Amino acid sequence: MPGLDAAALRADFPILGQQVNGRPLIYLDSAATSQKPRQVLDAERDFLTHANSAVHRGAHTLAAEATDLFEDARATVAGFVGAAPEQLVWTSGATMGLNLVAYAIGNATLGRGGASSARFALQPGDEILTTAIEHHANLIPWQELAARTGAVLKHIPARDDGTLDLDAAASLIGPRTRIVAFTHVSNVLGIVNPVAELVALAREVGAVTVLDACQSAPHLPLDLPALGVDLAVFSGHKMLGPYGVGGLYGRAEVLEALPPFLTGGSMITTVTLDGAEYLPPPQRFEAGTQPVGPAIGLAAAVRYLDGVGLGAIHAHESALATRLGDGLRRIPGIRLLGDAAGVERVGLWSFDVDGVHAHDAGQFLDARGIAVRVGHHCAAPLHRQYGITASVRASAALYNTADEIDELLDAVSGIRAYFG
Ligand code: PLP
Repeated sequence: MPGLDAAALRADFPILGQQVNGRPLIYLDSAATSQKPRQVLDAERDFLTHANSAVHRGAHTLAAEATDLFEDARATVAGFVGAAPEQLVWTSGATMGLNLVAYAIGNATLGRGGASSARFALQPGDEILTTAIEHHANLIPWQELAARTGAVLKHIPARDDGTLDLDAAASLIGPRTRIVAFTHVSNVLGIVNPVAELVALAREVGAVTVLDACQSAPHLPLDLPALGVDLAVFSGHKMLGPYGVGGLYGRAEVLEALPPFLTGGSMITTVTLDGAEYLPPPQRFEAGTQPVGPAIGLAAAVRYLDGVGLGAIHAHESALATRLGDGLRRIPGIRLLGDAAGVERVGLWSFDVDGVHAHDAGQFLDARGIAVRVGHHCAAPLHRQYGITASVRASAALYNTADEIDELLDAVSGIRAYFG
């Protein structure tokens, strides 16, 4: 597999060339949001400069050009996750995608999708299963859906080493399980979860599977149809793309059967004052004006990722993760969250510094030009399991170098002495 020259790639990311607090910026917060290469900035600017127009409606030349660019972007981003264009719904991000699914299932429960969506309708006592390691975006929409429908929300527990307890999953998944929603990679732990095993368990009972692919899409080769999930979400801004755009992937028969969540313009065939008929997917789920420029930017982002090669990116980031994990383990007073051996990882670690609040540690690192994330990273229940309210998270991307990891390790080794 061809390697990856992170130092050379950095030339494409103008933001990385700056100094912060008098030091060269070391950006290790890509799990929160990634930096964007020139190619993405240019694609969005070119669209706005030369072709900006409303898609799918105008009879004029610019409108046709904008529509072509928008639908080409859909095909490109769908292809990036192994899907057909009609299997990709534009959203504003992963949070929106997960809420869309939860509300669509809620609408099916209300009978809004007719006979074809009846199989998604929840009865009181039906079960929705998530895991103990989810981002709040893949937890709270299910809490709300359970509250609205009388379904019961259950959680697959995680062991302290960060791995999901599959034995517990096997005993939790039963005849009442209707939805199994879980993350491909936790944004706190960085461990790649066993999607195939969980999908197999869910399939045995006919449950719908929903995958949060936010932290895998920019870091691993991803083929969603091959993984066998029914639905999956990802966020553009975490994968070198713009803010305000994301994707919801769905198996064709699942998208076709689900009723819409948001309604309004652009998702209908006929409308009377008393009712409306809806377009097939993906437009059925795309009410109102879509994030056209960001979608075109996201297509440029996935072309960039593909150009580098997801295999090479994964190998590079796993090597950074190993270097970082090994280094952190050697520093007294550092506790790694989810330090399971022998698991596949992306390039991130969260850790606790004994006796030092994560926010203080974050400021100490910032003073040295190092950007990390501190807090509960929208995974408060998981932090509670570890007996802490906050941790420090360093997350790498394709543009980070081994030297930057060494700089981080050197800085982390000085934190406890500084706060003495
Ligand atoms: N899921 C995971 C695992 C995440 O890391 C994030 C973002 O931090 C989200 C969901 C939510 O993504 P967004 O805020 O872009 O909707």
